[in-house]
Amino acid sequence: MQKIFVIQSPTAMDKFLDLKQKLAIVHDLQMAAYVLSWDQETYMPPGGAEARAQQLGTLFSLAHEKFTTDEIGHLLDDVKEYEASLPYDSDDASLIRVARREYLKKTRVPSEFVARQTETQALSYNTWVKARPQSDFHAVLPWLEKILDLSREYSSFFPNGSANDVNSPHHIADALIDLGDPQMSAADIRRVFGELREQLRPIVRAITSQPPADDSCIRQFFPEAQQLKFALDVAQQLGYDLTRGRQDKTAHPFMTHFSIGDVRITTRVKEYDWSEAFFSTIHEAGHAMYGQGHARALERTMLAEGTSSGVHESQSRLWENLVARSKNFWEYFYPKLQAAFPSQFQNVSLDTFYRAVNKVEPSLIRTDADEVTYNLHVMMRFEFELQMLEGKLAIRDLPDAWDETITRDVGATPPNLSQGVMQDVHWYGGQIGGAFQGYTLGNILSAQFFDAALRAHPNIPEQIRRGEFSTLRGWLQQNIYAHGAKFLPNEIIQRATGEGLNIQPYIAYLHGKYGELYEL
Ligand code: ZN
Repeated sequence: MQKIFVIQSPTAMDKFLDLKQKLAIVHDLQMAAYVLSWDQETYMPPGGAEARAQQLGTLFSLAHEKFTTDEIGHLLDDVKEYEASLPYDSDDASLIRVARREYLKKTRVPSEFVARQTETQALSYNTWVKARPQSDFHAVLPWLEKILDLSREYSSFFPNGSANDVNSPHHIADALIDLGDPQMSAADIRRVFGELREQLRPIVRAITSQPPADDSCIRQFFPEAQQLKFALDVAQQLGYDLTRGRQDKTAHPFMTHFSIGDVRITTRVKEYDWSEAFFSTIHEAGHAMYGQGHARALERTMLAEGTSSGVHESQSRLWENLVARSKNFWEYFYPKLQAAFPSQFQNVSLDTFYRAVNKVEPSLIRTDADEVTYNLHVMMRFEFELQMLEGKLAIRDLPDAWDETITRDVGATPPNLSQGVMQDVHWYGGQIGGAFQGYTLGNILSAQFFDAALRAHPNIPEQIRRGEFSTLRGWLQQNIYAHGAKFLPNEIIQRATGEGLNIQPYIAYLHGKYGELYEL
């Protein structure tokens, strides 16, 4: 009998297990902090705020300290041989690779900088909260300049653009983009967004030159409890597992996860806008199914995460828009919706309802925008970020540039700055660069992944029409969910679709759907 085993020095394996255990402790600390912050957003009484901020600070800095030790650095060096003996896509090699990338990213940034940045972000955020209702840009201007300087300084710690030291030409925004969408370069995204903008503008113009759809049917009174029940029932039918999740209410909907077995969502209800709670529930459930779908072997490691902000957003958008705003979907669910809300919907046709949930109109607020105009809001912000970092757009000129661009691209002009340049928290409380691209990458990818799933299983639309989602979910599970954070976004796109980032499926989707709705 022949014995087969991979020859491995036991010390290398021991070192790996030691590394894995140390990383698991860091992971535990982070997940515990997530529980505290979930509680902060949902049930904590206001009196708990001060102590909670300290508790969160303690847990996050403990996790940071335990991760950035020299010991972890040495262990990452010691396991190189073990890593090289494994296939690239194995769980162990992936954990080492991702941990090393993260380690380089975290250890390159001096703790003095982190403290300075955190303090500035907090002060800037507080100024913005007070200044926004008054549209007082003068109050936030010096803070935004400080945030821009800090964003540039952060980038200077990565002279090669990302922690991976890829020796290709890079943009000052690359290191900032890398935080959410690892190794997706500013130059590539700018090119893709440029093409998308050119394709979108004529679609938006053609739609908005027609009378807007009548959405009065979804703007009647809908009791909160029934709204929540209907939305969560649908989310479960799509595949969100409530034995490993739950839903609560918050001011801003989000998904959070503490383990693969505990992935939670929140929603917000408007009693006179049925679409708010429903589509935010489906959106967050899309994120949550991704979180629940990571392979169990990845539990308690940093691989039990999504690949990137763009890929995560693709999973929420796929369910929210490509599935739950489709005609097939409502052919199945509309009679159920009518039964749940007979007085509101019994005299409303499926066609009227379908048009209402796919209404396109010029709007000012990104988070309220429909799926066609939404990307114009995002791409405008992304381009401003690049120009500010490049020194081509001064902060003081930002409000005018904003108004000009949104008027040209979306066809709406803000009456004040709180509905314009001061609407999003991202720059005022965070960084300039890397804050927005994930939203539009998510939309592009939602169609690209859906397209790939349809090529593998052409009967998916027919199944959706019968309220069956297991084939689609199974494809996503196998090609995206299961891998967690093992691969870079460009790797997962290539593996799942057989090609790189491509806007064509998204453009074809919009042309198909809105061409029919608006007879373009
Ligand atoms: Zn999302």
